[in-house]
Amino acid sequence: MTRIGVLTSGGDAPGMNAAIRAVTRMAVDAGMDVVGVRRGFAGLMAGETTPLNARSVGGIIERGGTILGSARCPEFLTEEGRRVAVDAARAAGLDALVIIGGNGSQTGAYALSKMGVRVVGVASTIDNDLPGSEITIGVDTALNIALEAIDRLKTTAASHRRAFLVEVMGRDCGYLALMAGIAGGAEVVAIPEIPCDPEAIAKELRAAYERGKSHAIGVIAEGAKYPAAEIAAYFREHHERIGFDLRVTSLGHVQRGGAPGAFDRLLATRLGAAAVEALRNGRDGVLVGLLRGEIATTPLAEVSGTCKPLDLRLLHLARVMAS
Ligand code: ATP
Repeated sequence: MTRIGVLTSGGDAPGMNAAIRAVTRMAVDAGMDVVGVRRGFAGLMAGETTPLNARSVGGIIERGGTILGSARCPEFLTEEGRRVAVDAARAAGLDALVIIGGNGSQTGAYALSKMGVRVVGVASTIDNDLPGSEITIGVDTALNIALEAIDRLKTTAASHRRAFLVEVMGRDCGYLALMAGIAGGAEVVAIPEIPCDPEAIAKELRAAYERGKSHAIGVIAEGAKYPAAEIAAYFREHHERIGFDLRVTSLGHVQRGGAPGAFDRLLATRLGAAAVEALRNGRDGVLVGLLRGEIATTPLAEVSGTCKPLDLRLLHLARVMAS
């Protein structure tokens, strides 16, 4: 009987559990044996596995995080570490692996596939910077969490004629900040892709004040050149130039937590099932993602070590909408 292993790697994303469930139930339905690997590549190297069946993945579709645990594993970056992982996968009797994660994880997946392991990747990261999927598991939920926070901050900002700087996650990619800024009606957005200094942000906020706005929101990506705290320190010294009283809120890991929304549950279910289908059809060395609204596979070789560029025309849209 074919035995497949499933693991979650890198930062957790809402919907990972739905993907584990889909992989397990699809594989069991196809007569395969399924093993969960704990703590990503770290658990793979240590041989930390647990049998999964249709019942053991019950009651998890609505839960955020990952029941298998996740980890960042520096040892796996070395050839020696990956050799340990390949040997451990063989010792556990795994015929193939489904790897649920973002850029780093899929780069690791490709490295394993080059060493002869049958691997299929599932696109999952809240950063949405993974090529091979126009949207990845977790993005929609994380965006909605950021939006809820922005909406609430706007209410209090308007009551006190304040500006709020909201720092959102996304590592080196500005996708979440830009989309949250557009959907949340932010006055200014700072992203890593376009360096923007505190003075430029101060000017935008001042301009919003002069246009008669009762409040202003600045969305700052965590990877932006100047972090929100640094911008706030600059503003404290130049308070009179901004007009608004200013506060800073960092959403941090709040953005990852919580129940996945319908979009992420469905995407994760479709991608997890498609990963098993790919293996059944004799395919591996590919990432399963969503392209032009359809489930599609992309060779891991094309995905490995690359980042999906942000559509910077959306920055212009954000500016015009802030007028
Ligand atoms: P997210 O960006 O959502 O946090 P991710 O999958 O990009 O997810 P990373 O921390 O970048 O998260 O990567 C997860 C793990 O993948 C790393 O800890 C490491 O074990 C492995 N990995 C990352 N980069 C490589 C690489 N170049 N070669 C082999 N393995 C890698």
